[in-house]
Amino acid sequence: NPVAQQPSVPTATRRKKIGILTSGGDASGMNACVRAVVLYGISKGCDVYAVYEGYQGLVDGGDYIRKMDWRSVTGYLSIGGTSIGTARCMAFKTHEGRLQAAENLVKHGIDSLIVCGGDGSLTGADVFRSEWTGLLDELITAGRITVDEAKTFRSMTIVGIVGSIDNDMSGTDITIGAVTSLHRICEAVDSVDTTALSHSRAFVIEVMGRHCGWLALMAGIATGADFIFIPEQPPSDEDWETSMCKVARRHRELGKRKTIIIVAEGALDKNLKPIKVDRIKDILSDRLGLDTRVTILGHTQRGGSPCAFDRILGTVQSVAAVDAVLSSSPDKPFPMIGMNNNKVTTQPLMDAVKLTHEVAEAIESRNFQRALELRDSQFLDEFKVFNVTTILDDNSIELPDHQQLRIAILHIGAPAGGMNSATRAAVRYALNRGHTIYGVANGFSGLVRGLFEKMDWMGVDGWTTCGGSHLGTNRAIPGKDVDMGMVAYQLQKNDIQALMLVGGFEAFSSLVELDKVRSEYPSLCIPIALIPATISNNVPGTDFSLGCDTSLNVIVSASDAIVQSAQSSRRRVFVIEVQGGRSGFLAVEGGLAVGACAIYIPEEGIDLPRLQGDVQFLKGLYDTDDPEKSEGRVILRTEGVSTTYTTKVISEILEDEGGARFDSRTAVLGHIQQGNTPSPLDRIRASRLAIHCIEFFEKHTCDALDQAEYKRQEGPTELCTDDDSIAVIGIHGVDVQTRSVKELLPVTDMKNRKPHEDWWQRDRALVDILSGRSYYSSIE
Ligand code: ATP
Repeated sequence: NPVAQQPSVPTATRRKKIGILTSGGDASGMNACVRAVVLYGISKGCDVYAVYEGYQGLVDGGDYIRKMDWRSVTGYLSIGGTSIGTARCMAFKTHEGRLQAAENLVKHGIDSLIVCGGDGSLTGADVFRSEWTGLLDELITAGRITVDEAKTFRSMTIVGIVGSIDNDMSGTDITIGAVTSLHRICEAVDSVDTTALSHSRAFVIEVMGRHCGWLALMAGIATGADFIFIPEQPPSDEDWETSMCKVARRHRELGKRKTIIIVAEGALDKNLKPIKVDRIKDILSDRLGLDTRVTILGHTQRGGSPCAFDRILGTVQSVAAVDAVLSSSPDKPFPMIGMNNNKVTTQPLMDAVKLTHEVAEAIESRNFQRALELRDSQFLDEFKVFNVTTILDDNSIELPDHQQLRIAILHIGAPAGGMNSATRAAVRYALNRGHTIYGVANGFSGLVRGLFEKMDWMGVDGWTTCGGSHLGTNRAIPGKDVDMGMVAYQLQKNDIQALMLVGGFEAFSSLVELDKVRSEYPSLCIPIALIPATISNNVPGTDFSLGCDTSLNVIVSASDAIVQSAQSSRRRVFVIEVQGGRSGFLAVEGGLAVGACAIYIPEEGIDLPRLQGDVQFLKGLYDTDDPEKSEGRVILRTEGVSTTYTTKVISEILEDEGGARFDSRTAVLGHIQQGNTPSPLDRIRASRLAIHCIEFFEKHTCDALDQAEYKRQEGPTELCTDDDSIAVIGIHGVDVQTRSVKELLPVTDMKNRKPHEDWWQRDRALVDILSGRSYYSSIE
C-alpha cells in the first residue's frame, strides 16, 4: 500500500479543511449543525466547505462543494430541514461512487468530513473511511491524483452527528430533529383534539417511526392519548383489538367525548403483523360504534422551524464535532457525537450502529423485552408513565388498603408550563395505586384557609396540554407569609399524609421552612416533595425545571419574528428583555438558540467597559455600505441584570453610538414567556416527575404503615422524620434524582435564589464565539 507507507504532511503546517454534509432524511436542526460547523470551524482557523445534496454532492463534486464564509450561514438557525440539501444517493453505495467522492475531496483539499445524518449515512461514512487509503492507491494508479496529493491526504478524519427525527440511534439519548418533530405532532394532535371533542369522535393518528416508537410514545404522554402502538412493545396480554377497545370503552364510560389513538408507522402485533390505522378505525367503529377518522401526519412531521432544543443540540454537538476533528488521529475509531445525560459525548460510531441494529433484530425475533431494554432507561420509564396515567382500573398496581395515602398537591410561585401536566399525572397514578388525592387552591394561602378539593380521574382530563395553573398558584411561603401553625393545623385536620409542591424558588424556600420546624409539628412529619416548575430554571437539584423549555420556545419564536423585522428594517439591533430573575439560563440558552450577538446575564452583570466593547463590536459589524451586511441583530438581556443599565438605557446608548451605522429598539417579552401551551418536553418531564413523586411518598411511608398494620393500630401520626423525606425531585441527565433539602442547602445561593453552579454556564462562551467576536477582531 504505497499511500499508507508515505509520511503524511504534518497537520500543523497546513490549514484544516473541513467538509460538512447532511444526508438521509432531513431533520430540523441540521441547519444549526451546518451553521455551527461553519462558524466554529472558521473561528478555529479552519476552512469550511459545504457539500451540497449529501453524498450525491460528494460524488458529483464541482460546484456541489463550496467554501463557506462567516456570512454564508446567516439566518440558518431558524430554518427547518437542511439548506445545503440532502439526498439518498445510490452512487455512494458503489465502489466507483466512493472512488469519485475521494477524488473530489482530494481535489478540493478537504481533509476532514463531518456527516450529519441517520444510521445509514453514518454507516456509509464508516465504509468510506475504512476504504480511504485503498481509494487513494487506486486514484494514483489510475493517474487521477498525484502521489504528493495522496501524501497530503493520507488520512481522512470523519466525524458523525446523528440527525434523525425518529430518535432511533442507540448511543445517544436524543437525535437532532426528534424534538421538533414531536412539536409538530403535538400541535397536530392538540388541533385534532378540539374537533374530536366537538363531534365526540375517535381519531387514529399515524406518526413516523419505522423501528422506533419514541415519537408515538412521547406524543402519547404529551397529548394524553388513550392508546398507543409502538414497534418495541405490542399489546401482549390478549389480542390488541380487545386491549384497545377495553381502554377506549372505559374512558368513554367515564365521560370522555374523544378517543385518540397514536400509532407508529412501524407498529406491530405480537406476531409481527403490522398494525395499520385503517384496521384500527374499523375496530373502533364496529366494536364501539365510534365515529372514527384517520389522520396520517406524514411529512408535516419533518417540517417547520426547529424548536429551541434542536437548535441548541445541533449547535453544541457540531462544536464538539469540530473539536473532535481538531484532536483526531488516524488510530482513533470513527467518532460519533452523542448526547448522554445532558452532556455532549464522543464514542465509536460503529458500536452505536451495532446496538441500533440489535433493536430491529430483537423486534424481528419477537424478543420485545430485549427491544425495550436496548432503548435507554428513560424510554422504559416513560413507557410506564404512559400506561399508569392512561389506563384506569389497573388493579395489578393497587396497594393494600393500609398503605394507601391521603395526598395533597399545591402550586407555588409564578405559573410555568407543565404544572397542570404534573398534577394530572400525579392524580391518575395515585388513583391507580389506591390513594386519595386532594388539590389545594392557591398555594399555601389556600391551604391555610382549608381549600382542599378531592380530585378524580376525569377531573384532570385534558390538563396535560394546558398552560398556567388550574389549581391556582400563589407566592406565599409558610412561616413567612402565612402562619406555620395554620399550615400544620390544616394538614392535620385534613389528615394529609404526603405533600406534593409544584413550583419554583418560592416552593424551594417553602420546603426549607417546613424542614426547619418539622420537629415541632407532628403533622409535618410526612414526606414532602417539590417538583421544580419555573421558567427561570433556578431551583437546585434539577437540570431542568418545568416551564423552562416552554419559555425558551416562546423566546425563540418571538426573537425570530423580531429578527425578521430587524432584517427588513436593516441596520437595527433589538435589545430583547427576557425573564429569569437572578438566573441567566434563558438568556444563555435562548442566545444560543437565536444566535444573539450579545447577552447580559446577572451572573456577569453589566458595566461601562462591557458596553463600550459591545458598541465597538457592533460598529465593526455595520461598518460598511454593503446592503448585504446590514442584517438585523438581537441582544438578550435578563431582566435582573442591572438596575442602572435597563433595557431602555442600553438601547438608547446603542442608538446614540450607532449613529448612521445602526439604530436600536427594545422588546420586552414579559409574561408571554410563561407560555400558553406547554411544550412537549415540559409535559413529558412533568408526567415523569409526578410518577416518581408518588413513588417517593410510598417509599417514605410504607414501613411506618406496615408497622401500624402489623400492630393493628390506627395509622401513625408521624409517618417519617428522616432528612431524606423532604426533597426536590428533579432531572439529572436522563435520570430522575431525589435530593433532600439538607443536601441541597450547601449548594444553594439563597440570596440570589439559585444554585451555586449552573450546568448551562458551559454554553456561555459559545454565544460570543458564534457571534463572531473573535473572528471579526482577527480580520480587522
Ligand atoms: P434516515 O434515518 O432518515 O433514514 P439515514 O442516514 O439512515 O437517514 P439512508 O437512506 O439509510 O438514510 O442513508 C442515506 C445515504 O447514506 C444513502 O442514500 C447512501 O448514499 C449512504 N449509505 C447508506 N448506507 C450505506 C452503505 N452501507 N455504504 C455506503 N453508503 C451508504
